Amino acid sequence: KVYYKNYQLLRVIPRTDMQVDDVLALREEIEGLMYWTEPARNHSADILIPPDSVTDVKQFLQIRGVEFVVLLKDVQKAIASQNPSMSRQQRVELRTNKGHDMTFQRYHRYSDMLRYMNYLSLKYPELVELLIIGKSSKGQPLKVIKISTGQRTKDGNIKPAVWIDGGMHAREWISPAVVMYTLKQLVENFKVNRKVVEGADWYILPVSNPDGYEYSHTTDRFWRKTRSNHESQDEETSRTLTNFFWGESCRGVDMNRNWNFHWGEVGASDDPCHETYAGPRPFSEPETRAISDFIMDRKDRIKLYLTMHAYSQMWLVPWGYTSKKTGDYDDLMNMGRKAVDALNRVSGTQYQLGPSPSLLYPTSGGADDWAKGAAGIKYAYTVELRDDGTYGFLLPASQIVATGKETFAAIKAIARAIVCKN
Ligand SMILES: [Zn+2]
Repeated sequence: KVYYKNYQLLRVIPRTDMQVDDVLALREEIEGLMYWTEPARNHSADILIPPDSVTDVKQFLQIRGVEFVVLLKDVQKAIASQNPSMSRQQRVELRTNKGHDMTFQRYHRYSDMLRYMNYLSLKYPELVELLIIGKSSKGQPLKVIKISTGQRTKDGNIKPAVWIDGGMHAREWISPAVVMYTLKQLVENFKVNRKVVEGADWYILPVSNPDGYEYSHTTDRFWRKTRSNHESQDEETSRTLTNFFWGESCRGVDMNRNWNFHWGEVGASDDPCHETYAGPRPFSEPETRAISDFIMDRKDRIKLYLTMHAYSQMWLVPWGYTSKKTGDYDDLMNMGRKAVDALNRVSGTQYQLGPSPSLLYPTSGGADDWAKGAAGIKYAYTVELRDDGTYGFLLPASQIVATGKETFAAIKAIARAIVCKN
């Protein structure tokens, strides 16, 4: 297990291009730093720093006049308090009384989520269907819930479909939690949400990267990538030797750089040991292959593609790989505006709306670009959920419900607009 005792989370805010370069140079200068967000001018970058390097990093920044604040003084403490545990007793009670132990008061393991999905399919068989669309590298099922009241409207027209996925990045725990919350609203709160449930077919994949998600629970809280191993055969045979060089961090691929659309062009790494490793080739991961195949088979019906990430409170519009605009940029922005306005009305949370290159920096091989550019899905968005950096990936479980509520309001606003158009 990886411990982060006395690791500090530092927020740096470069104000000039030169300071951005300084912050980038810092990563080369001092080993073992983890950049949770990439530096950009007048945008904060959050950096996780091992205890031995804290003084050096602060000195480096002070000398160059780069602003910074300490967000977390002891990251291990924040990890320990993020997710309240549940006793065996509580668990048994929940399962007996409710048939499942999903609470939305804590970040659940993958098995709890699967159990809840099974529960929904048994309790609401007329509405819910479970589909296994593929397997992860380690053989975990990729489970999609389909919510449908029939694929045709009363007038006999084919309904539009909506796709939502979560958990591409393992450590972004709020993402699967919010997708599960969405599931609950659509199914268990069907009466209130009848219009959008009846108006579309919903395909929902709460955990796209179950291997990584579980690993972030059991071993390394800040794991991001999949858990595949792309060592070549030669290396495999001399494993004892290469293990020395082939550190743990060299496993896995960044799922959100692995999609076959302008793959590997910008904002992705070709170094297997890097956090944003795009993979040896596009769709090298069984997870991205399974999802893309499934979506491609339904691409004419899917009108909305949403992929949930964290953190920074942004509603991102394609393209990610270039600062050129999509042909229907205004449509995407108008729809996105509906979403962030609806979200804001719930409890005042502010989201930025726009394409990644203008809000942050360009990245390629992302799922939303692929959904838009390759699958031709008109409304494709990446959602960066709470928060804006106070806790980052360690968003307390007590914020799951509030985050779920506001995000569902946004999803519903878009779904309503799409259903009405059809
Ligand atoms: Zn992410």
